Amino acid sequence: RLHENLRRMAMTDDLTGLLNRRAFLDEARRHFARTLRQGAPLSVLMIDIDRFKKINDAKGHDAGDAVLAAFADALRAGLRKSDLPCRYGGEEFCVVLPDTDMEGAATLAETLRRRFAAVEVDYDGEKLGATISIGVASALPSMHMIEEAISNADRALYGAKRSGRDCVIRFDVDADGEKPSLTYRSRPVPAARPAAS
Ligand code: GH3
Ligand code: MG
Ligand code: MG
Repeated sequence: RLHENLRRMAMTDDLTGLLNRRAFLDEARRHFARTLRQGAPLSVLMIDIDRFKKINDAKGHDAGDAVLAAFADALRAGLRKSDLPCRYGGEEFCVVLPDTDMEGAATLAETLRRRFAAVEVDYDGEKLGATISIGVASALPSMHMIEEAISNADRALYGAKRSGRDCVIRFDVDADGEKPSLTYRSRPVPAARPAAS
């Protein structure tokens, strides 16, 4: 049991309870190898909390921690058991979605984005909120390593930040798998106007 506990501690991040980057990459490589063998789809989400530094600066580091923990909870609640989420770095998260193609992954990303935007984090008598930007990429037959898909998702995330944050961008390639493009962009749906009375 002690051994099991130590092993788990070495694999997870204390604050969020998610896999840490090293344990995630080990597991993600296994998923990727299986995907190649079976010809199944696999996609990756790269998620970063928007203007997170502002939360730390304005409300303190513990408030930032509370937002990170709340995001991890929202992420877990929005994923399937077979999905693989991790805390990739400070306020950056990566998810491997086995058996999920680009359409499915982009739809899930948009759902996660919307849901988290509505989350209110209780901290010290205040309600904190934050938004996320997400880059989506899928494994391609030409790839040799999961890191290639992660890198494409990261490029899409960078595009999402550049387009103003709080949005989802997908990394697409043309039919030959050659030319990459950042083609899809979601935007917050404007709140419905109250019906005129
Ligand atoms: P952007 O929208 O471009 O992502 O802006 P940002 O402010 O979120 O990004 P930036 O990379 O400038 O800041 C990330 C901050 O996250 C800086 C770092 O101090 C903070 N951070 C990293 N890890 C933790 C943590 O575990 N807890 C807290 N509270 N803050 C953390
Ligand atoms: Mg950020
Ligand atoms: Mg960041």
